[in-house]
Amino acid sequence: MSNQEYEAVIGLEVHAELKTQSKIFCACPTDFGAPPNTQCCPVCMGYPGTMPVLNRRAVELCIKAGLALGCKITRISRTDRKQYFYPDLPKAYQISQDEAPLCRDGELTFSAETGQRTVCIKRIHIEEDAGKLIHAGEKTLIDHNRCGVPLIEIVSAPDLRTPEQASAYLRALRGVLLACGVSDCRMQEGSLRCDVNVSLRKKGCDALGVRTEIKNLNSFSFVEKALRYEIKRQSDLLGRGEHVESTTCRFDPASGKTYPMRSKESTVDYRFLPEPDLPPICIRDEDIEAIRATLPELPRMRAARMRADYGLTDYDTDLLVSDPALADFFECGVGETKYPKIMVNLLLSDLLRHCGSDPFFSPVSAHRLAELATLLGESTVNSSTAKKLLLRLIDGDIDLFRIVADEGLAQIRDREKLSAVVCEVLAANPRAVADYRNGKTAALRALQGQAMARTAGRAEPVLLEELFCAMLAQSEK
Ligand code: ADP
Ligand code: ZN
Ligand code: MG
Repeated sequence: MSNQEYEAVIGLEVHAELKTQSKIFCACPTDFGAPPNTQCCPVCMGYPGTMPVLNRRAVELCIKAGLALGCKITRISRTDRKQYFYPDLPKAYQISQDEAPLCRDGELTFSAETGQRTVCIKRIHIEEDAGKLIHAGEKTLIDHNRCGVPLIEIVSAPDLRTPEQASAYLRALRGVLLACGVSDCRMQEGSLRCDVNVSLRKKGCDALGVRTEIKNLNSFSFVEKALRYEIKRQSDLLGRGEHVESTTCRFDPASGKTYPMRSKESTVDYRFLPEPDLPPICIRDEDIEAIRATLPELPRMRAARMRADYGLTDYDTDLLVSDPALADFFECGVGETKYPKIMVNLLLSDLLRHCGSDPFFSPVSAHRLAELATLLGESTVNSSTAKKLLLRLIDGDIDLFRIVADEGLAQIRDREKLSAVVCEVLAANPRAVADYRNGKTAALRALQGQAMARTAGRAEPVLLEELFCAMLAQSEK
């Protein structure tokens, strides 16, 4: 932040699409990517006289998310109409929850750059999604397929202080929702998106400052970029003695800037009113216990267990559990190798770089990755050979142990053999040897490179360096 006197105060409202087969108030399917207006009916298109019927599964998934986040579950919860006009909302109201949301008062603990942080979850409620406007040249079209798709909104207290914390919170929240099977959280498809609220206040001050809200961010990096821009903008305003106006903004990824959409003064009053067509949602203790029994091992527990079981670092396990598919992939192969730390490095730094972040699409099986970890761990191959083998695995499955044997890819660790190579290289490169003696230590790299080339990249690098240093020291005398 450019202005040291102030601290940022950030709260997130996260919308996650629930993983139900059908919509929240009708039987229309919720599949993503269907042709426009093929998944809608009079109910979700808001025809007068139709009646909503609440999808029981949506309620269960909302409660499941609430339990995973330590919330209290409301025994008699209600739905409300949030009234506003927008062309993507055919009924001119959205059925949501105002005063009696399904879940309240939870929390989420996650690691951020400054260590562990706990953020309070104020509430989680169910609501219906709106349609999608498609701007086609001069015309704007509407696709009703998304109308009535079930969502939960998860509202945090303003407990976050930096853009990095905000994205770390979102990542951890995504990990929990994925682990519970509550949502697919596909950010590119908009099934997880968030509104970010941010204000500044003098350090040491408890009162909240005037906030702005940035709507509909659908990537971790947009959350961070939008927040950085907005914090700087507010801080410059305050630094000049001006005021921050309460506004709702949108973020433009191309320019990296936020633009005001409307000021709070001109904000519509939603005139929430109880939804007359739906009865209260009554939750019994046994319903809650039945849902609790379906909770999986949650990311924080899983990370702790993985640290204990495999001796991994916080950094590794946080990354693994941020997507249960990644952790599952790792755990599916790790039993086959004695080198879990090497396997995690191969997965997180090498394989993901080549295959994007979804191990589901990995062309390399967990079994092969474990084999590669073993080859490296036992020093059968060196790391440059391992990288080449990984690329070959990405092209198509191969039997690693056989290829290493058949093609003679094993490391050369034989002192005598390598000494001979080192002698050859020194004899062939008097120039580099002289440079090295004159203090140009970089010449050593060039000599090592030549030795590697002569062994087809198979020399054991540590031993090679040791031999070079020893022989160069000798010839100096
Ligand atoms: P509203 O009822 O206007 O939507 P809420 O109290 O529900 O306001 O808060 C919405 C979100 O904004 C929450 O995530 C909350 O943490 C955050 N928030 C509220 N006030 C501030 C503030 N002054 N600065 C930053 N975030 C705030
Ligand atoms: Zn419908
Ligand atoms: Mg709100």
